[in-house]
Amino acid sequence: MAPPAHRTTAPRGGLLRNLPDYEAARTTFTWNQARAELAGMPGGRINIAYEALDRHLDSPTAHRTAIRYLPREGDPVDISYRKLAERANRFANVLAELGLQPGDGVYCLAHRMPDLYAAALGTLKHGCVFTPLFSAFGPEPIRSRVEIGQPVAIVTTERLYRRKLAQWIRGTPSVRHVLLIGPVEDTPPDTLNAAQAMAAQSPEYATRPMDPEDRALLHFTSGTTGKPKGAIHVHEAVVAHHITGKLALDLHPEDIYWCTADPGWVTGTSYGIISPLTNGTTMVVDEEEFDAERWYRILQDQRVTVWYTAPTAIRMLMKHGPELARKHDLSSLRFLSSVGEPLNPEAVHWGRDTLGLPFHDNWWQTETGGIMIANFPGMPIKPGSMGRAVPGIETAVIRHTDDGIERIEDPAETGELALKTPWPSMFRGYLNEEERYRKCFVGNWYLTGDLARCDEDGYLWFIGRADDVIKSSGHLIGPFEVESVLMEHPAVAEAGVIGIPDEVAGETVKAFVSLKPGFEPEDVLMKEILALARKRLGPAVAPRQVAFRDRLPSTRSGKIMRRLLRARELGLPEGDTSTLEGGKE
Ligand code: AMP
Repeated sequence: MAPPAHRTTAPRGGLLRNLPDYEAARTTFTWNQARAELAGMPGGRINIAYEALDRHLDSPTAHRTAIRYLPREGDPVDISYRKLAERANRFANVLAELGLQPGDGVYCLAHRMPDLYAAALGTLKHGCVFTPLFSAFGPEPIRSRVEIGQPVAIVTTERLYRRKLAQWIRGTPSVRHVLLIGPVEDTPPDTLNAAQAMAAQSPEYATRPMDPEDRALLHFTSGTTGKPKGAIHVHEAVVAHHITGKLALDLHPEDIYWCTADPGWVTGTSYGIISPLTNGTTMVVDEEEFDAERWYRILQDQRVTVWYTAPTAIRMLMKHGPELARKHDLSSLRFLSSVGEPLNPEAVHWGRDTLGLPFHDNWWQTETGGIMIANFPGMPIKPGSMGRAVPGIETAVIRHTDDGIERIEDPAETGELALKTPWPSMFRGYLNEEERYRKCFVGNWYLTGDLARCDEDGYLWFIGRADDVIKSSGHLIGPFEVESVLMEHPAVAEAGVIGIPDEVAGETVKAFVSLKPGFEPEDVLMKEILALARKRLGPAVAPRQVAFRDRLPSTRSGKIMRRLLRARELGLPEGDTSTLEGGKE
């Protein structure tokens, strides 16, 4: 039996909700209508950056603050829609002068800074394909993603370039240009100071009208096996970015919106760059990493109205207790939302008790490009549930059968979450991996790799993953990527990597290794292996613990049985590995 639903509080701020009646919207919504809310370009063409910036420039929005940038120290910097458009135009002109062609890949490895946004939008304006990379990645995840996606240009900072790229990037034939954003003290050879190059360019640029099916974004994600997968998204995706921001996050042009997701991941792009701009809001961008006191101060001082964050951050705030929150005036907040990992009911209640508003959980993944399931504003929240399907999206919980899949009707039964295709932000492929892509679909259903249950009221409940990927602090980690690095250590014979529950991060990465003959399972060796992993993978991906085993459980063909490792580690029955048939590679 599902726990009782809670009514959301009445909207603050005197704004009418964008989705006053969920049931009505489910029957009347069409994607064509959603598309009609955007400007589009002549001849049925479209460009994400045109919708985010250009179309506002003939309206009063041009003078509104698009980005309120909070540097680590010092005063906030306001960048208007017009100024951001001009900066993006300058960047697009730089790409044009460097000879980049539409379809060419531009990667960005940088922490939050204004020119990251100009680079992303300028890349899209020029018809190039934008890929964000998480700046806390070590050299190895960066290198593998560069090898797979073969970008023509990389945008980064001087510091990140020296620490993570300089040693190997010149041996990568596709990369013809490295552009450095942010302060550059001493331009390294073969790199370009982006600010200088942009200053020499015109602030005008005629945004390229793109075919709706032209590639716009390449986002990397991880599976159970093999290398990272590059999920391809097209310009048409902006229709979903826009409308889901409007309906599920209730974005209004009056809003001061803060998405805490890092722009190195898909949430930080879809809802940290594109959707807030298409919806004409002011977005807060904080250069600093999590700090409870700083975060409350931002909510208070910037008068944030809509806040989109993640369970790990909420749990970290909860650990600081309600007193810290109550020292701040948080009365500007009117809508709180969370994504990326299961949001436990306590966090929903804590929001309501401490911040005066409940958190609205929503669900999506890199492949879906935008929010698919949400606790919508105005709809009763069921704490612990991800919510209901976005209007225009049909969900099903399915079981695998001998000849395909079938829908599970029993609200008590768990199955794999499936989404009926198509929708505008659906990924259009895994780069160069047609077979892997094809395997994600049965008929016109996309199989998500997540296990869920659907209750009598159509609310979906997340149960777990059907595969072995790990979610740590909201970041998806592929065990294979970690195991491959561990195997590089001369002492390691076998490696198996799993996620183990963690009170704050959701899961942390734990590695099991067996050693080659002649090596002893000693503390100093363990530290050496951990240090190697940290150096190569970066702290966000590297295991926190390494345990030695004489042998790792494996199938007859030699595949490490991670689920058995996990069951043994957590004391679960070995037959019950909490997963079903299915799951993604
Ligand atoms: P990513 O592709 O990195 O955005 O990760 C997507 C995965 O994160 C999903 O397939 C889920 O396993 C997990 N996830 C995202 N949102 C939620 C949520 N609201 N509740 C539980 N798990 C979630």
